[in-house]
Amino acid sequence: MTLIANPIRPKPKTARPMVKGKKKILLVEDEKDLVRLIRYNLEREQYSVLSAADGESGLTLTRRSKPHLVILDIMLPKMSGLDCLKRIREESRVPVILLTVKRSEPDRILGLKLGADDYVVKPFSVGELQARVEALLRRSDGNGREAAENAVSIGGLEVDFERHEVKVKGKAASLTPKEFELLRLLVEANGKVLSRDQLLERIWGHGKDIEIDTRTVDQHVARLRHKLKADAFRIATVTNFGYQFKR
Ligand code: CA
Repeated sequence: MTLIANPIRPKPKTARPMVKGKKKILLVEDEKDLVRLIRYNLEREQYSVLSAADGESGLTLTRRSKPHLVILDIMLPKMSGLDCLKRIREESRVPVILLTVKRSEPDRILGLKLGADDYVVKPFSVGELQARVEALLRRSDGNGREAAENAVSIGGLEVDFERHEVKVKGKAASLTPKEFELLRLLVEANGKVLSRDQLLERIWGHGKDIEIDTRTVDQHVARLRHKLKADAFRIATVTNFGYQFKR
């Protein structure tokens, strides 16, 4: 049974330019017609779409293919969408949109408590789902999955953003609040280069204080690198510009 309304929107015939680095969306849904419709429409929006027809393979694919976003039906064979969500949240902050039915408000509430980011109620239009997908990808920074994570582990480096803890090869590193903020900004930039001015502005404020200039940033980077020991190389200098975090 397909509950979708307004399945295929008319589309202008002009070709869209290929978007560099397509966002990967995993669709976990057992209704084949609905999968086909959603896939068709998302692919036209230049997303790359993977699908799974039950909760277990949804979880496996989330782990294996690291999608940028998951659309997860609640009513699924083998493992329910809510159980699947619970398992996903034990290991990942990937944005999740639940597909629910009208009468199941308790499921929706539980879903949000379990860490779903949004939901749509069947029957929905594909346009509505697409708008939610776009909004959520924007909110999660659009740059990638790591932006919304509370903790990251990269090489010998573990950073817990909530607890303000950093470990290098399992040993706690004692960072000052400014050094921690510097590390956080660089990690969250996800490979983007941040200029000295940007870092100055974001860590020290407007940067008009006479005592503080871009050399302060360099000094903090030097101290931070020293504390990161073998992982110091991850903070790369971009000559005459700023710094970049290398994963
Ligand atoms: Ca279903």
